[in-house]
Amino acid sequence: MSETDPSQYVRQREKGARDVSYPELPEPLAVPVYDNHCHLEIQDGDDALSLDEQLDRAVAVGIAGVVQAGGDIDSSRWSAWAAASHPRVLAAVAIHPNEAPLYAAAGRLGEAVEAIDELAAQPRVRAIGETGLDFFRTGADGIPAQHESFEAHIALAKKHGIAMQIHDRDAHDAVLETLARVGAPERTVFHCFSGGADMARIARERGYYLSFAGNVTFKNAQNLRDALAVTPLERILVETDAPFLTPVPYRGRPNAPYLVPVTVRFMAAELGLDVDELSAQLAANTLAAYGSFG
Ligand SMILES: [Zn+2]
Ligand SMILES: [Zn+2]
Repeated sequence: MSETDPSQYVRQREKGARDVSYPELPEPLAVPVYDNHCHLEIQDGDDALSLDEQLDRAVAVGIAGVVQAGGDIDSSRWSAWAAASHPRVLAAVAIHPNEAPLYAAAGRLGEAVEAIDELAAQPRVRAIGETGLDFFRTGADGIPAQHESFEAHIALAKKHGIAMQIHDRDAHDAVLETLARVGAPERTVFHCFSGGADMARIARERGYYLSFAGNVTFKNAQNLRDALAVTPLERILVETDAPFLTPVPYRGRPNAPYLVPVTVRFMAAELGLDVDELSAQLAANTLAAYGSFG
């Protein structure tokens, strides 16, 4: 990617043996919501959607905007570009916990964090993310670099006065400990929340947002539904993490912001709430966490 034209950046998701056709558009939501976390630079399926096509489909079903998250320097630059050029996009920028050890091994972690610092000053970059800890994909060797990067990112969110999107995989205790020790940014979001009710109660005490992805619909994810049940309504967010984590009944197929209504309807049923009522709350929560799109 050239530094002067981040719009040209694109990644391709492995197809494997999956059904890579895009699911049909769901029935539109009457009250618009936002997709709080997605990766629209990653193309999926045989008929990959452009950013404009993604946003058009989203709007058609009542998804008013998206927060596009970065994970390395290039994808963070793309995220900032997308947000600067599309009124329905806000950006999150960061070095992902699985990327931090790679930058560190190359002696470039400091430089990478500086690049994120620079992007975070842009007006439509409204979160540092995704940052955090991932003990699932990164082994013991990479953990010191993950901690160093996470703490540097926490400092950036505070410095710029913007939200933080946390990626926490198999690292609940260490993430919570770090936040308690160094102090969490004012608006801290657990993207694709993966804990259970106990962790959700700690998050509730500390005022963190929990963002639920399509996996809340998975049969084996009772822990997520238990967590949802104990989270205050004003701290619940919804996201896709597209192109990953496609909700049931489309699991494995390409995910996209236009599928958010599937997850919102599922969450409303779980919570025993009217879909419109939950949608209004989710939209208000997004704006409280990241500020206005307009
Ligand atoms: Zn993540
Ligand atoms: Zn993500």
